[in-house]
Amino acid sequence: MIDQLRLPIYLDHQATTPVDPRVLEAMLPYFTEQFGNPASKNHLYGREANRVVEAAREAIGKSINAKAQDICFTSGATEAVNLAIKGVFNAHRYGTPHFITVVTEHKAVLDAMKRIESEGARATYLPVDDLGMLDPEVVAEAICPETVMVSIMAANNEIGVLQPLKEIGRLCREKNVFFMTDATQALGKISLDVQEMNIDLLACSAHKLYGPKGIGALYCRRSLPRVPILPIIDGGGHERGLRSGTLNVPGIVGFAKAVEISIQEMKSEQERLRTLRDNLLEQLKTVLPDIKLNGHPVHRLAGNLNICIPGVESEALIIALTNEIAISSGAACTTAAIEPSHVLKALGLSEIDLHSSIRIGIGRSNTGEEIKYAAEELANEVKRLRTLRDQ
Ligand SMILES: *Cc1c(COP(=O)(O)O)cnc(C)c1O
Repeated sequence: MIDQLRLPIYLDHQATTPVDPRVLEAMLPYFTEQFGNPASKNHLYGREANRVVEAAREAIGKSINAKAQDICFTSGATEAVNLAIKGVFNAHRYGTPHFITVVTEHKAVLDAMKRIESEGARATYLPVDDLGMLDPEVVAEAICPETVMVSIMAANNEIGVLQPLKEIGRLCREKNVFFMTDATQALGKISLDVQEMNIDLLACSAHKLYGPKGIGALYCRRSLPRVPILPIIDGGGHERGLRSGTLNVPGIVGFAKAVEISIQEMKSEQERLRTLRDNLLEQLKTVLPDIKLNGHPVHRLAGNLNICIPGVESEALIIALTNEIAISSGAACTTAAIEPSHVLKALGLSEIDLHSSIRIGIGRSNTGEEIKYAAEELANEVKRLRTLRDQ
């Protein structure tokens, strides 16, 4: 029997991922029978909810070598990033606190930085090289006596580039500034160790690693050197006062299960994704020898490809392939306007190359057969569009 491919093939795993069936199974009882509020400590419903939340906190902490008490649950990485940047800014509202980040960050970081700038902070946006890498030396040079925090993402959501966290963490600690990382794309894909990497704050989200949407966490160091931080959401004083609001118990259970599975299967799965990714690029290159890889060829996420296909408009290509493959031209856009990617711009791509680039995110459910099919469809469509253009 020939397996039918399920179309369109999902190749946008940097935007979001499906919930793993094992994760869903772990979550289900906490919607119905075990529906307690973990803050209701005076009965068994509440105590059972509290028990699983604390077990999840322990598991998520352990996955990055952090103490459970330093994990604060949020609604996702956007909130975690906002809490980290605005919370640390609010605890340093004297003088002109200085923050450092990099131009290729996710909008959550860039927009939170802009917000605190409008409220009196100073921010420096460091450049990257043409492969998307940040030089730790550039970070060291940007640190000044007013610098409070350096925020550098672990893995980029468009080009998958992995930044040298350990080197940056070491120099931040030497210079006594807090080091924060948006590890949303990295958790479960590369090993993260907040002790070894001197990370003081780390943001992550369940839906990028086969967990549910709407749940994430901020790791924030409470042991020395303790990070001064204020909440941005006030209420009942949940999460040790850092983030009020009734906890999303099924989400938290699913998040922990998703992290557990991803860490357990990390080595073999990343190897498998790397092979699929490399095969896809090779297959495309044999038919379209002029395509160019955006971002570092080695220091990048195993499942990520971002390529420039000269002579083809990415939007036209994506729309033409809409029934075959689900890909994107960059970050999941918030507006209908087709604005070129700020990440690709930062690599110095020409205006024309900016509009000819696509992002392919390979993930857990993808098979070799699917990748082969995707490569064929892509190559055929590119050839067709080029013929049309040349007529
Ligand atoms: C997806 C993503 C976010 C936002 O996460 P949400 O949980 O969707 O708010 C932040 N940073 C990076 C790098 C991401 O990939």
